[in-house]
Amino acid sequence: MAMKPMKKRRRPFPRRKVCRFCADKALKVDYRDPGTLRLFISERGKIIPRRISGNCAPHQRQVSAAIKRARQIALMPFTSTGY
Ligand SMILES: [Zn+2]
Repeated sequence: MAMKPMKKRRRPFPRRKVCRFCADKALKVDYRDPGTLRLFISERGKIIPRRISGNCAPHQRQVSAAIKRARQIALMPFTSTGY
C-alpha cells in the first residue's frame, strides 16, 4: 500500500496555464466590453490579481487599465454592495 502524499495547499481557484488573452487571439481587451472585463473583477468590483486570474503581465496590465477606463465611463462599478 503506497502512501498518498497529502495535498495541503489547495488554491481556491484552479490554476490556468496560460493567459486567456494569449490563448485566444480573437479575444481582445476592450474597455467597452464589460462582459469580458467582468471576468477579471471580483463580485465586490475589485480587480482580480494576476496570480489568480492567470493573465500574463502585459495582458493583466491591459485588463486593469481597461477596467479603470470602464469605471470612468460608468460601465463598471468601483465597488458593488451586493447584487
Ligand atoms: Zn497574455
